[in-house]
Amino acid sequence: MAAEKHAFDKRTEARPPGHEEATMRSFSEKLDLYARLAIQVGANLQTGQRLTISAPLEAAEYVRRLVREGYAAGAYDVYVDWHDDAVAKVRLLQASEEALADVPAWLVERYETLMAQRACQISIGIPTPDLLRDVPPARLAASRRAQNLAMQRANEERLAKTNWLLIAAAGPDWARKVYPDEPVEQAVEHLWDTVFELCRIDASDPIAVWREHALDLRRRADYLNGQRIRRLRYEGPGTDLEVELPAAHVWETAEMVNEAGTRYVANIPTEEAFTAPRRDGVRGTVRATKPLNYGGVMIEGIRLELKDGEIVAYDADAGRESLAALIATDEGSRRLGEVALVSQDSPIARSGRLFYNTLYDENASCHLAIGAAIPSCIEGGRGMSAEEMLAAGGNRSIAHVDFMIGSDELSVTGEGPGGEAVPLLRRGRWAF
Ligand code: ZN
Repeated sequence: MAAEKHAFDKRTEARPPGHEEATMRSFSEKLDLYARLAIQVGANLQTGQRLTISAPLEAAEYVRRLVREGYAAGAYDVYVDWHDDAVAKVRLLQASEEALADVPAWLVERYETLMAQRACQISIGIPTPDLLRDVPPARLAASRRAQNLAMQRANEERLAKTNWLLIAAAGPDWARKVYPDEPVEQAVEHLWDTVFELCRIDASDPIAVWREHALDLRRRADYLNGQRIRRLRYEGPGTDLEVELPAAHVWETAEMVNEAGTRYVANIPTEEAFTAPRRDGVRGTVRATKPLNYGGVMIEGIRLELKDGEIVAYDADAGRESLAALIATDEGSRRLGEVALVSQDSPIARSGRLFYNTLYDENASCHLAIGAAIPSCIEGGRGMSAEEMLAAGGNRSIAHVDFMIGSDELSVTGEGPGGEAVPLLRRGRWAF
């Protein structure tokens, strides 16, 4: 187990200061560091700011540490919003259709109030792959749609105004899926070790290493912005896709700056540079290279055909009905909203593991998203009305779902303003 854990990162040469491995830390010390990383680098909580944490019950141990670190960093107050996927499943199976489509106003108000107060938000995901397999897709889609619609305004406020973070915690269901051959307790421990390793918590100074890593990704995005790429060409097994970029597109990383000027890293881990495609400028075929855990239902072997930006044909080996429901969400969910480049050299890709969790799998692989463009990927996009966003070429939808298309066999080439080829990825790895 230990051998396997480090097999892909066994470097013997000296590492720069802060990067050398700190092997003597206990689990508890690592969990504390993981909390500090979330507060100081991820969410970058500001003094006097409110902090809201959305977390499953299984993450209690981690949440307590986040709360401690939050107050230590000067939080005005910290609110924890507990949930339980097993309870959510009972509701999805047993509540009336009317209740499923009914998001109480007080719930919406709570979120909107927090966002109006610019509360910092941390969401902890413990993916539960396959949990919702038995829920009829139509019920699941109805509930998700109602939720997304009700929270759309607050979500847009969050993207524009606050600093927020999505981070994962190990739990039994997820661990069972990633390490199916191990007794569950051991699998959870093993998964925590993996999370710590892939999130660079094993470095002697993880905070410094993360600041450097964020800068590294920022340099990639800066290079891409400097190339003024007009279109991207993807070539790989089952994939032959052309993606036009809007004239005002911006390459971004998960390191963002909100209206208040706070710089934060919205995903831990993160390995991507991404932008928005032209909503009417995607054509060709694309095949997913990893299964997608779409909110508790696995969709495998996704294939799409696009014309003028629109998905005109699709199929999947498993979960086809869920894919159909996703694409049918609204007008915009038949188009793409994100193109992201990730090198196969990313630690998650090198681990060779499938995590059944988009936060991890998307950072091991180039990906596309079905649905909305991220506003900051269009120049001035944050202040744009829906009409302005559409006019700039960016897509609008209440859905935004990533699916993975990267592999060792994928090539991505940009086309510069003069028609020149700009190699971006070769055999899945950075070519610049
Ligand atoms: Zn992405």
